Amino acid sequence: MMISEAVQAAADLLRKSNSVVAFTGAGISTPSGIPDFRSPHSGLWNDVDPMAVASIHGFRQNPEAFYTWIYPLARLTINARPNPAHEALVYLETLGKLNAVITQNIDMLHTRAGNKVVYELHGHMREATCVHCFAVYPAESLITQFLNDRRVPRCPSCGSVLKPNVILFGEQLPIRQLLAAQDAARKADVFLVVGSSLEVAPASDIPVLAKRHGAQIIIVNLEPTPLDPLAHIVIRGDAAEVLPQITAHIKARV
Ligand code: NAD
Ligand code: ZN
Repeated sequence: MMISEAVQAAADLLRKSNSVVAFTGAGISTPSGIPDFRSPHSGLWNDVDPMAVASIHGFRQNPEAFYTWIYPLARLTINARPNPAHEALVYLETLGKLNAVITQNIDMLHTRAGNKVVYELHGHMREATCVHCFAVYPAESLITQFLNDRRVPRCPSCGSVLKPNVILFGEQLPIRQLLAAQDAARKADVFLVVGSSLEVAPASDIPVLAKRHGAQIIIVNLEPTPLDPLAHIVIRGDAAEVLPQITAHIKARV
């Protein structure tokens, strides 16, 4: 299928559906200037062992290394704005078609764009938790402070290290978010995957669950994914171009 035909087919499928669920990964936010982890040249994984810095074990052993690694990502995230792909998902929600956005992203761009039902499977950067006394703090001022002084944020109450509420390797996914996401996936008739390599389980099991319960899968991604053979429509393109093209087709016939 040519891209324009696939875009048209995706729009037709979405137009007929009243129960769409979107599933997004780092690729939906690259047009907002936040690099994904797997594309070459992003630099985020250069010279680091992910299991060492971005795991809960690594964090406990060496929080300084974690904060040094996350510094550029935190700076880009704080300055990022939602892009036309995020906005297209808001449009689908306002039409009453999109029931939920399930995201692996921690950048909060879906909620900032205005989507109401967002399940953040890998956490977010709105809050941070003390590793010792478990007190939870709003993260915005902590991040601003960290971006200025590069010092490991500490608990105002007990002085221990604060960990942003993002899910590191080796941590459980937030159970309520995961159950709600699975429930939405089971009820979806169209499951729209955007910008995910679909390589990180258990999040990547959710599209399979949707398919098993009867959803038709649309995948919009720059590169092939292991679940392409399951998909009804695969569009290889930039999400910030493809999603607005799809919603433009839908708008033209609403
Ligand atoms: P990933 O890095 O594994 O895969 C991203 C995929 O998106 C790639 O297959 C790439 O080809 C594709 N892509 C990149 N730019 C695109 C674009 N403009 N349009 C369409 N496709 C595009 O990402 P993942 O599957 O989300 O897994 C990465 C893990 O890292 C997640 O667990 C996530 O929590 C975390 N992460 C989050 C952010 C963020 O919050 N923005 C950024 C980096 C990593
Ligand atoms: Zn504390």
